[in-house]
Amino acid sequence: MARVEISCTVLQVLMACTRTFPLPEVPVVGGTAEQRAQVAAELVDFDEQIGTERLFLSEVRFEPLDFEGLIHLTSRRIALDDNLDGGRLDHVLRHELCHALDYSEDLAQIDQDFFDELGEAVAGAEDSRIDEVSLDARSLRSEALATYCGVGALAAFATAESCAEEAPQIAEIAVWLTEFVWSASRYDTLLDWAPAVHSSWFAAHDLRTYDIEADGTLQPPNGLAISGSIGEASSTAWDDGITDFSAVVDIDSGAVLSVALEDIEDEKDMWWDLGDPPGGIECNYGGRPRGWLDGPAAAWCTVEFVGLGRSDARLLVMSDSDLEWRATTNGCALPGYELFVARGAVWTAWIEDATVKWSEVR
Ligand SMILES: [Zn+2]
Repeated sequence: MARVEISCTVLQVLMACTRTFPLPEVPVVGGTAEQRAQVAAELVDFDEQIGTERLFLSEVRFEPLDFEGLIHLTSRRIALDDNLDGGRLDHVLRHELCHALDYSEDLAQIDQDFFDELGEAVAGAEDSRIDEVSLDARSLRSEALATYCGVGALAAFATAESCAEEAPQIAEIAVWLTEFVWSASRYDTLLDWAPAVHSSWFAAHDLRTYDIEADGTLQPPNGLAISGSIGEASSTAWDDGITDFSAVVDIDSGAVLSVALEDIEDEKDMWWDLGDPPGGIECNYGGRPRGWLDGPAAAWCTVEFVGLGRSDARLLVMSDSDLEWRATTNGCALPGYELFVARGAVWTAWIEDATVKWSEVR
């Protein structure tokens, strides 16, 4: 039997009290069947991540709006523009749910100075639609909370460990969100990644700038094809007239195998269909998800924190045991990261100390 809460305001008492429901039971009205199903799924997910029966709403309704979404605080109703779909629909709904949770528990008031600072960052962002002057301080704090909470639970867990090349407030707000918003999240379990590092003879080339592709292979056994180009900057190889290089090396020892690159047969994965991990997470170029639909898979992904900039890339992993994307410890971007598959596993390669290195991700 579901718990039902009644919330009344003075105005509403004159008419009727607003009946509210735990998120999985909130009526979804208007829109298409597809839109309603997507909202229902996101409500269930949000409820699980914050802790069940923590937030109660009366309704989520699709209607024509001049903006994307709105939370009506007195009636505890979320309005969504009926043109929303796909990832944008999830994002806007999550943003409004975060506002609702904030006002329900006064979350942004816990650390007012911090949220005042974040509110300024959000309002000052380049394409901000927030008018800092017209919002009171409490509303601006809520806007900051909803903006960063809106990227979702996995993004918060992935960025909670600070990385070198990003604004320090990113990890601060991420940690805060894991504690005060996503307190029941299944993403709480991070994959403890301790890279078992292999490296190749390319150190001899004194690589400083590079463009590398590593492909796991079936033939020859343990053969790893590496090719790339050597940049101009301070490369002794460049001085010797060498600009491109390729080799097949043993994936364990890094020793060069006497196999021509064209004789290599790649191990096929299913990465085209994998899609990015859920939430405001983007995995591009060498970091796009690689692996198999039924796992394992890995990706190097960034998160946009409006007003604070984009995070460094983080390593995310989908294991074949629970098919759930997870953040990793030691997950900060490695220089020149690339993903490849070999031996039924996903590996990442990178360049460090002018050496090509690689490690299985698991
Ligand atoms: Zn908002």
